[in-house]
Amino acid sequence: MTKLNPQYRKLPGSYLFSEVARRVAEFSQSRPDRSLLRLGIGDVKGPLAPAVAQAMSRAALEMGGPQGFRGYGPEQGYPFLRRAIAEHEYWERGADISPDEIFISDGAKSDCSGIGDLFGTDNTVALCDPVYPVYVDASAMAGRAGEYDRDRGRWTGLMYLPCTAENGFVPDVPEERADLIYLCFPNNPTGAMASRAQLSAWVDYANANGSVILYDGAYEAFISRPELPRSIFEIPGARGCAIEFRSFSKTAGFTGVRCGYAVIPRELEREGVSLHALWSRRQASKFNGVSYITQRGAQAVYTPEGWAQVRAAAAACLDTARLIREGLSQAGLEVWGGVHSPYLWAKTPGGLGSWAFFELLLERAGVVATPGAGFGPGGEGYVRFSALGDRAEAVQAVERIWAALG
Ligand code: PLP
Repeated sequence: MTKLNPQYRKLPGSYLFSEVARRVAEFSQSRPDRSLLRLGIGDVKGPLAPAVAQAMSRAALEMGGPQGFRGYGPEQGYPFLRRAIAEHEYWERGADISPDEIFISDGAKSDCSGIGDLFGTDNTVALCDPVYPVYVDASAMAGRAGEYDRDRGRWTGLMYLPCTAENGFVPDVPEERADLIYLCFPNNPTGAMASRAQLSAWVDYANANGSVILYDGAYEAFISRPELPRSIFEIPGARGCAIEFRSFSKTAGFTGVRCGYAVIPRELEREGVSLHALWSRRQASKFNGVSYITQRGAQAVYTPEGWAQVRAAAAACLDTARLIREGLSQAGLEVWGGVHSPYLWAKTPGGLGSWAFFELLLERAGVVATPGAGFGPGGEGYVRFSALGDRAEAVQAVERIWAALG
């Protein structure tokens, strides 16, 4: 009989957001009269920046003519986009990244899960707790997470780095050695941002231990203070120990368009092998590139009009986050995040469990949040709110929460 991948058989239930969607659908069916306000899943509301939409339309028309048609593109992305990213995301911040160290992809999820292909299964993986569930799932699927302990809601083989109110949700470097370290700042779900000194400590740790930092900067566009590091490559020593993932999803509303990139410095080596060369090799076999139309759209983000439009959208989102934060605080909740991130992280009242508070918000306020426990055992007792959606809905949602808890 055909055998299944044994690692997949260890995975617990459904992916967090599928479970949230299932519960919401069940609630809507039983209460069709109740309008729902969604502050849960981190999708963007759009529309695409006009400069991006126009660039994509032009590219589509170009492709429709005999001169402009393009088939398979350069495997790692078109030079025009790799160059625009290097210039605007790195050189302007003093980070030394060359265009050929940038691998264009269909988004950060594929990259931060696929990167595991380069590493042996016996590496120890460290990750923030709570954190974006994809790092955990991908490590488990690769056989790098041990066994799932249902009672404790954690994997036996992972090194969970506690992110708590006490450490400002930024983990301290551990005493023990970790081989692969997933860091994500601004963080999903807590909204926390790491300082330059905190990232430097991680870079020093990785260099001292021969570890590799897998740095997820999917929410970089929301960092609101110029002195904070926008890339791990702004930290001295990072070229020898880090890989960075970025995405146009939240920066420019590309969750449906799909475009992101991984940055792998040429000198990053382990066991005498270049990770840049290994990722090129992996991508050439497993990935066929991002469409020309999409890459032209992403390039348009870096035109003066495109940039102004996406920056305005990020600012509007942060303003919505501020309204949510103020509203939740007034409702008596303890709240973090929402300053360098579209996410707010709130402590459940009265020691309620995450899923219990999720149900309470759904039933009493008709508001969908995301249970913190879905992001790891350290998320128990918290819920995440997202400011990526509609501002008016967010205002209404906090009013309803205020009424429900008041
Ligand atoms: N990384 C983090 C931390 C995220 O929260 C998300 C999406 O929500 C992603 C990566 C995935 O981004 P993309 O849409 O580029 O795949």
